[in-house]
Amino acid sequence: MKKKIVLALGGNALGNDLAGQMQAVKQTSQAIADLIAQGHQVVVTHGNGPQVGMINLAFEAAAKTQAHTPMLPMSVCVALSQGYIGYDLQNALREELVSRKLDIPVATLITQVEVDANDDAFRHPSKPIGSFFSEQEAQQLTQQGYVMKEDAGRGYRRVVASPAPVDIIEKQTVKTLMEACHVVITVGGGGIPVVREGHHLHGASAVIDKDWASAKLAEMIDADMLIILTAVEKVAINFGKPNQQWLDTLSLSDAEHFIAEGHFAAGSMLPKVQAAAAFARSRPGRKALITMLDKAKEGIAGQTGTLISQ
Ligand code: ADP
Ligand code: MG
Repeated sequence: MKKKIVLALGGNALGNDLAGQMQAVKQTSQAIADLIAQGHQVVVTHGNGPQVGMINLAFEAAAKTQAHTPMLPMSVCVALSQGYIGYDLQNALREELVSRKLDIPVATLITQVEVDANDDAFRHPSKPIGSFFSEQEAQQLTQQGYVMKEDAGRGYRRVVASPAPVDIIEKQTVKTLMEACHVVITVGGGGIPVVREGHHLHGASAVIDKDWASAKLAEMIDADMLIILTAVEKVAINFGKPNQQWLDTLSLSDAEHFIAEGHFAAGSMLPKVQAAAAFARSRPGRKALITMLDKAKEGIAGQTGTLISQ
């Protein structure tokens, strides 16, 4: 059966640096093209950890040496990362589709994701970003409005909030392009975080978890399936312990139970299981799959991965 799929790419699908990304997107594009060739309608989302770190670092370094170069707001860093990753990915995917004689256009959409200014995450920014600063530099940056925190005796770092996605501003464009049979790359890096101020959308000092943003997108475009591609073939309980057990399926009640027991690491597997469960819970019939990039095809055929459903 042909499905509407949101395909969320993890860090290993994109590599860690410029050359690594250029190489990684080739393999990634093969996995995406496999699903498209089967007739599935695919929307691609992706993370941006190393890339947004690199962009932020470059501007920080420039700001340190050149008085008039500003540090970039986090929202702008995410926007740049969407453009940079989207370019490599749409370039490689286009080539893969052309070489398979599939006449399907690919487009990257710069995507804003609304977050709530009252989200508790803004009161407790916790995600460290970029390089280390001295106490004096940190004081100056604090005066400029950045939140700086001492990081384990290594110096001061900028920290940002990780709020929940509320709305995807460009969702109608995603739907329109999908209906026209385009492959869309969207909510890159979890989307550009924006807060609503009347008619104005104000860039927020935050990063949105890409697994959460992908689940939100999947809900909003009424996808049949959310596939989260990462570095492991399946989700495990007792991960890394002698009694580790890989899971083929995960019910919503088991997911809740295992989350409470602390089986999934915060910041890595936890947001995936939570986002997958939230999507599966949002409507009967919706399913989420967590597996590895090169197992996507087998996973969708029900042969591997961890399937989360009601
Ligand atoms: P991505 O870049 O794809 O988001 P992450 O590193 O954030 O990847 O998360 C995937 C990682 O989560 C896996 O590579 C694995 O090391 C780790 N992990 C933590 N807990 C679990 C678990 N219970 N089962 C499987 N993997 C887990
Ligand atoms: Mg991750």
